[in-house]
Amino acid sequence: MANAVCSPHIAVMTDFDYDLFVIGAGSGGVRASRIAASHGARVAVAEEFRVGGTCVIRGCVPKKLLVYGSHFAEDLADARRFGWDTSGATFDWAVLRDNVAEEVDRLEGLYGQTLGNAKVEVIRERATVAGTNTVRLASGHEVTAGHILIATGAWPGIPDIPGGELGITSNEVFGLPALPRRAVIAGAGYIANEFAGIFNELGVEVTLATRGNKVLRSYDQEIVGKLLDISRHKGIDVRLNFPFCGITRQVDGSLLVDGGDAGQIETDLVLWAIGRVPNTMGLGLENVGVKLDMDGAVIVDEYNRSNLPSIHAVGDVTNRVQLTPVAIREGHAFADTVFGGKPRTIDYAAIPTAVFSNPPIAGIGPTEDEARVLFPALQVFRSDFRAMKNVLAGRPERALYKMLVDGATDRVVGLHMIGPDSAEILQAAAIAVKAGLTKTQFDDTVALHPSMAEELVLMR
Ligand code: NDP
Repeated sequence: MANAVCSPHIAVMTDFDYDLFVIGAGSGGVRASRIAASHGARVAVAEEFRVGGTCVIRGCVPKKLLVYGSHFAEDLADARRFGWDTSGATFDWAVLRDNVAEEVDRLEGLYGQTLGNAKVEVIRERATVAGTNTVRLASGHEVTAGHILIATGAWPGIPDIPGGELGITSNEVFGLPALPRRAVIAGAGYIANEFAGIFNELGVEVTLATRGNKVLRSYDQEIVGKLLDISRHKGIDVRLNFPFCGITRQVDGSLLVDGGDAGQIETDLVLWAIGRVPNTMGLGLENVGVKLDMDGAVIVDEYNRSNLPSIHAVGDVTNRVQLTPVAIREGHAFADTVFGGKPRTIDYAAIPTAVFSNPPIAGIGPTEDEARVLFPALQVFRSDFRAMKNVLAGRPERALYKMLVDGATDRVVGLHMIGPDSAEILQAAAIAVKAGLTKTQFDDTVALHPSMAEELVLMR
C-alpha cells in the first residue's frame, strides 16, 4: 500500500516554478521544507508573520520561559526555609517580557538560517491557493508548484458574544504593556491552566472560568482534581459552569464579564483560551475543491494528502493532534514520502503530553476512566507524596503519580502525574510505556534515591 502513495519521479516536475510550495513557516512547514530540500526538491515557503510559527513566536517557547520566570516567586519564598535572605527581591514584568521577546527573536533568526542553509526560498508575504498547482502571493504575483503544502497552523478562537473583542488571546498576552491587577481566564484547557499559573505567581488575582463542569477534559480527572485543589489553595478562583454572555467596558476602564445566572466578574483583563481554530479562512482551498471539515480543518489521509493529489497539509491546520512535535513529525513524513521515496505515516498512539500549569501535569496513554473500558483487568497503582523540597519549604502541596497496568499482560498502559518536574520525568518514562514494558520490569529497576521519579519503580 505504501508504495502506491507517491514517488520522487511523480513529485519532482520541472515544468513548475517549484517542486514544493509550503504555506506557513511554523514547526510543520519548516521541517517539511528543509527535508524536502534535502531530498533535492526546489522549495519555497511563504510566511505572512514571523518564521517559527506559533510554538516559537507566541506559544510553547515564550510560554515556558514565562513559566520559569513566574516560578521564581515561589522559589524565592521557599528559599527562606533553606537559609536564604531574599528580602528586597522585586519583580519587573518589562524585564521578563523583553528578555523573552529577545530570545524569540534569536530563535526566529536561527529558523531563518536553517531554511537558508537548506536552500529553501523564504517569501515573507501571505500566500493563498489559486489553483491545484498555483499559489498567489499578496503582491499579486502567481507561482506554480508540483506540490502545495498547507501548514498554516491554527488561530485562537474568540466567542461571538457582545464585547468578545475586549478580551485578548495568547497572541497578545506575551506583549502586555503591564500586568493587570486582575485577570479572568476563559476556558479550562492547556493555555488557561498554564496562564492561570503564570499570572497567579506574578501576583495577578486570577479567576479561571469555564463554560462546562470539567477542567482539562482529556486528562486523568483524579490528577486534574489535584491541580484544582492546589490552584485554589494558591488563590486561583476556579469557576465551573460559567457561561460567557458578554463583556462590557466600565467607565473606570475595567471590564465586566457577564456570566448570566452564574453572576458577573469585574476584571482588568480577559484572556480567551477556548481552543484554536484551523487557519484556513481566506486561503482559497474551497475554491479549488479541497475538502475541509466543519471546523475548517483540511481533511487529509494518513499520508497527509488532501482529496487533491497535489495538495497536502500537516500540523494544527489538520486538527488531528495540535502539538508541535506531532506537526514536525508529520512535516518530516510528508517530505520523505513525497520527495524522499520513503513513504511513511505517523504513529499517533501513546503520545506523551504535558500541561505546564503550576505544578505541571503530564500523562501518556488512556486516562483511568478510558482504561477501565479498554482493559477489564485494569490495575491502578498510586503514589501520593510530598516532594522532599516541599516538605522543608513547608509547602503543603502533594504530588500524585498514577500507573495504569493491564492485569492480563502486566503491561504498563498509562502513566499520569502531577508534581514538580512531571513533564521532565514523564518524557523518560514514556519511552518505557511506548516500548510496552511491564510493571514487573519497572519494579526490577533499582530506585534512584532520593528523587521524585523513583516513585515510578516503587509503586506496590
Ligand atoms: P483546549 O482545547 O486545551 O481547551 C479549550 C477550553 O476552552 C476547554 O476548557 C473548553 O471547554 C473551553 N471552550 C471551548 N469553546 C468555548 C467557548 N465557546 N466558550 C467558553 N469556553 C470554551 O484549548 P487551548 O486554547 O487551551 O489550547 C489549544 C490547543 O493548543 C490545545 O488543544 C493544545 O493542543 C495546544 N497547546 C498545547 C500546549 C502544551 O502542549 N503544553 C500548551 C498550549 C496549547 P470544554 O472542555 O467544556 O469544551
